[in-house]
Amino acid sequence: MKTVTISKERLKTHIDQLGEIGETIDNGVQRLALSNEDREATLLVSKWMKEAGLTVTHDHFGNLIGRKEGQNPCFSPVMIGSHIDSVRNGGKFDGVIGVLAGIEIVHAINESNIIHDHPIEVVAFCEEEGSRFNDGLFGSRGMVGKIKKEDLQKVDDNNVSRYQALKTFGFDINPDCIELSVRGIGDIQSYFELHIEQGPFLEKNNYPVGIVSGIAGPSWFKIKLIGEAGHAGTVPMNLRKDPMIGAAEVIKEVETLCMMDPKAPTVGTIGRITAFPGGSNIIPESVEFSLDIRDIDLERRNNIIQKIEEKIKQVSISRGLVYEIERNVDAVPAKCSGNLINSLKESCKELGIDAPIMISGAGHDAMLLAEITDIGMLFVRCRNGISHSPKEWAEIDDIFTATKILYETVLKHI
Ligand SMILES: [Zn+2]
Repeated sequence: MKTVTISKERLKTHIDQLGEIGETIDNGVQRLALSNEDREATLLVSKWMKEAGLTVTHDHFGNLIGRKEGQNPCFSPVMIGSHIDSVRNGGKFDGVIGVLAGIEIVHAINESNIIHDHPIEVVAFCEEEGSRFNDGLFGSRGMVGKIKKEDLQKVDDNNVSRYQALKTFGFDINPDCIELSVRGIGDIQSYFELHIEQGPFLEKNNYPVGIVSGIAGPSWFKIKLIGEAGHAGTVPMNLRKDPMIGAAEVIKEVETLCMMDPKAPTVGTIGRITAFPGGSNIIPESVEFSLDIRDIDLERRNNIIQKIEEKIKQVSISRGLVYEIERNVDAVPAKCSGNLINSLKESCKELGIDAPIMISGAGHDAMLLAEITDIGMLFVRCRNGISHSPKEWAEIDDIFTATKILYETVLKHI
């Protein structure tokens, strides 16, 4: 079995120290993008990148990049990345372990005197969580050319625009020059991301790590059913045009459709619902609810969406309602590269680790990078599947195991 020079102690120290920046009273973390805490975290991670011998820069989307040159100046870099921003009242592992594992891998390459052709880049993407400007995966969308100048005008709760926040964040970020930071196909050799699972699968099945086969693409909708308001005491049931009962029928159907194929990983969620005018003695005039549908298979997902739309139409006709459907997000599911999955499997075998192949229900920066390069992802088991909470926890032994696998895998591609 191979021995790898990854330092568990340094990895743990880095995770703990970064977790102190923006630490909340209940041991959680709040580090919103481009905030003072984010700046402090950026400075610390930059320092660690420099200690690993990386040349540190920022691109104009605010992505922090540490680069180590390879032997061949014409080769494109192998990238390892994730994010160091957090949700409001989040945990200290989400995103962080992917960036810190990248730095640790560079240390191990240096300490083992490994000569490599491809450059290596370790990246902390700007605002993955979307918790400040309500617009996630910003840095990775920018890098692959999906951010336009007008997208920089989004404002936070204090009316500060992303443009202003980028401009005043420091370093050499210049939001007027974002097009200079866009990368295309061929500009990145391959992209690796290590992340906590944020779900219960690994823990439940007793695996420390899992190899991701693909990332489910979310589709988000705002659905509005409009009926007729009325007095809850006087309008007989058979004369009502009640959009809440209509919504209930639709919502139940979402569950039925998502569970139709027990082997499919399709998930559907209604996380928000509001009734207007919203009185306990008023039949609502309208009801608006969100719908989040995800699947790794685009065709299956779109097929279910179509069936939900048919149900909305049918319920509206039978209840005398008017409906509006607005699609806000439509992300295409991203497949991980078969080649990188095989490399990850091989590394697991070399290290004597049994890792299942699994899908990611949550979106990650890797999902965007998949548009321009091959992606490979590793998941780390997390306690009770909890994430985006101060209760988020991953064992250092599992993070260490995942970092060793990633190290062995990166070596195969640089
Ligand atoms: Zn994350």
